Amino acid sequence: MPLALFWGCAEEYYSLDDYSIVKKTDIHVHINQPNSAIAQQALEDNFRLINVNVDIYFPDYSIEVQREAAVAVKENFPENTAWLTAFSMAGWDNYDTWLENTLAYLDESFEQGAIGIKIWKNIGMEFQDEQGEFIMIDHPGFDPIFEYLIENNKPVLGHLGEPREAWLPLEEMKMHQGYFSRNPQYHMYLHPEYPSYESIMESRDNRLDKHPDLVFVGAHLGSMEWSLDVMSEHLDRYPNVAIEMAARMRHIYFEAKQDWEKTRDFFITYQDQLIYSTDLTENPGADPEQAAARAHSVWLQDWEFFVTNNTMEESGIDGEFSGLQLPVKVVNKLFSENAEKWFPPLNEL
Ligand SMILES: [Zn+2]
Repeated sequence: MPLALFWGCAEEYYSLDDYSIVKKTDIHVHINQPNSAIAQQALEDNFRLINVNVDIYFPDYSIEVQREAAVAVKENFPENTAWLTAFSMAGWDNYDTWLENTLAYLDESFEQGAIGIKIWKNIGMEFQDEQGEFIMIDHPGFDPIFEYLIENNKPVLGHLGEPREAWLPLEEMKMHQGYFSRNPQYHMYLHPEYPSYESIMESRDNRLDKHPDLVFVGAHLGSMEWSLDVMSEHLDRYPNVAIEMAARMRHIYFEAKQDWEKTRDFFITYQDQLIYSTDLTENPGADPEQAAARAHSVWLQDWEFFVTNNTMEESGIDGEFSGLQLPVKVVNKLFSENAEKWFPPLNEL
């Protein structure tokens, strides 16, 4: 661990070689394969993982199937995995029964070892009630769920909304053309009658305003990936909220290329509210060698970016950018300490 002089004061930095000796955490992966190659690689790479269930409408991956998988992964990798449960919107129109079933499902999940829950973009972007109304996250029907989570000290990972590019035509997108060309159902430019980006962000903020005690992490840079300033305002306004960067590292690379100093300052200023994550996914049938190799290369590349000032390149980013070379203290928070703060059971791993 070299000691360097930085603006007159001694700062310690990690090196690329410190990668495997530093304990790290990735709080957003989707592993539905009990003999997970990613979890095995994580053991070798000194990573703890939070395996995330999601209320995706796809019969092979119902939340029940995902929960079973998460429990099995946890059994196979007790020392470096934890998992988040999710609830289903199915049955919402029969509200009282939905609420009862949902609370029971969550209860059961926590008994089975879930350490928190994930809410997903289907709320606000997909699910509509019988009247065809989109149910937003600030809908009072969710109040008892959030009150239950607060009472039971359960953190929420909230993926609400999409990258703001989702509201643009494909040809104007810089980062997410691939995903939205494959998933037109979430390409909001094609659905002008759906809720706007702004209304989704507003509904999230209304929910956060209502529950200052809610333990909340905004997934995917809180869908504010397009602006360090907007993320800063949000983190200032909600000092108890953190954001993670799953599947949005390219936006950070892009910012570093545009304005390295501003990007580095952002990570230093908000060092207590930023958590590392990737969105790596492993489903049954995935090639284990490929899954492990990809996980290792994603983690190592992000480590290089955060701890060194190496010149780097990434597909989709036009030109080179430099790593942020964050101080050891900041890297430790980003890769572990903040994750432990928002998801305290990680302390036992
Ligand atoms: Zn995800």
